[in-house]
Amino acid sequence: TAALADVDNEVDEAITAELLRQQSTLEMIASENFAPTAVMTAQGSVLTNKYAEGYPGKRYYGGCEHVDVIEQLAIDRIKALFGAEAANVQPHSGAQANAAAMFALLDPGDTIMGLDLAHGGHLTHGMRINFSGKLYNVVPYHVRESDMVVDMAEVEALALEHKPKLIVAGWSAYTRQLDFAEFRRIADLVGAYLMVDMAHFAGLVAAGLHPNPVPYADVVTTTTHKTLGGPRGGVILSRESLARKINSAVFPGQQGGPLEHVIAAKAVSFKIAASETFKDRQQRTLDGARILADRLLAADVGEYGISVVGGGTDVHLVLVDLRNSELDGQQGEDRLHRIGITVNRNAVPFDPRPPMISSGLRIGTPALATRGFGKAEFTEVADIIAEALKGELSEESATLLRDRVRVLADKFPLYPNLSGNAAA
Ligand code: PLP
Repeated sequence: TAALADVDNEVDEAITAELLRQQSTLEMIASENFAPTAVMTAQGSVLTNKYAEGYPGKRYYGGCEHVDVIEQLAIDRIKALFGAEAANVQPHSGAQANAAAMFALLDPGDTIMGLDLAHGGHLTHGMRINFSGKLYNVVPYHVRESDMVVDMAEVEALALEHKPKLIVAGWSAYTRQLDFAEFRRIADLVGAYLMVDMAHFAGLVAAGLHPNPVPYADVVTTTTHKTLGGPRGGVILSRESLARKINSAVFPGQQGGPLEHVIAAKAVSFKIAASETFKDRQQRTLDGARILADRLLAADVGEYGISVVGGGTDVHLVLVDLRNSELDGQQGEDRLHRIGITVNRNAVPFDPRPPMISSGLRIGTPALATRGFGKAEFTEVADIIAEALKGELSEESATLLRDRVRVLADKFPLYPNLSGNAAA
């Protein structure tokens, strides 16, 4: 960022500091990943200068011949990746994708069903002060307390009672696979659209390590920056019959000019997601999450009232259950931060503590798998986390754990060609 340093030293210094943070700590926020430099190159390109309202071949601006090629590549690649009939790659984010999809399918005041935020749903699935909660009549469904699995009997009963126009299946903090066929059956029972928000697990789907919702859903939305490992952004996949409605809901319904530099980066990431190395990475992501869940379910951790929501995981994250522990979510997050591991506290279902403190930690493995971690490294990370969360953490133990974190970080240099690494 030499030129940037000359123009704006303050921003440049903060970017370098952030690079050093990413290089020297272990990133375990479940929704984060490390975009390849090829993706960042596309995103940092001259495409940022181009207006291209409309769609490939049907633009409202001249000079779109090259961005047309790029946007069509992104569309074709993601359709092939997930077997979708139609794709809109313009949503600026996952929230925008969901807003546009709902705008296409619903009228204000319509009833929607989504997983309760407190049970792992997303803000855009009907949270009270989100657009989804303000525009639509929201009927939330839940997980069962006995096994923390989405209660499909409740979903069916609520659907029959409230006749929603849309059922949203998807989550931000859940560790089991949803039963898409059962959601489809219930949606058909009441004539509802089924929308699956696969933002979190799209990378696993692309790798064939998680059921694909596309054959079951009318619309599938996703972010491109979580397990999928691309630039920050959103995508809407749909049946061909809904494509026109969805395209016009994105533009001009919700957005103006598409971010063609981000769309180029999306195209690059979709190409990468179709590769064998991507599959291997997603397998290591899953292996790492299982290793972490097993470690945190062990007796020496259980002694401190610490457990794992749902007793394990089938995806890229673990939800640590601190409801019976003296340590709360805030303290757990702070403690891991102290030793160089970044996670986020997260409410768990039936959480007795307030959301800002919470009784859970959401710990994900995608970013470390991207960094190159395999079973041996994930076993070491799991052990470090277990040691950090058990009982009190003395200054001395914290220093030792911090050193072990640093050894792992140094073993897998991140962005070695970007400035900052030498000092890391
Ligand atoms: N959908 C789900 C399930 C998510 O977890 C998230 C992000 O956390 C989003 C949508 C929103 O994505 P964005 O932050 O890009 O708006």
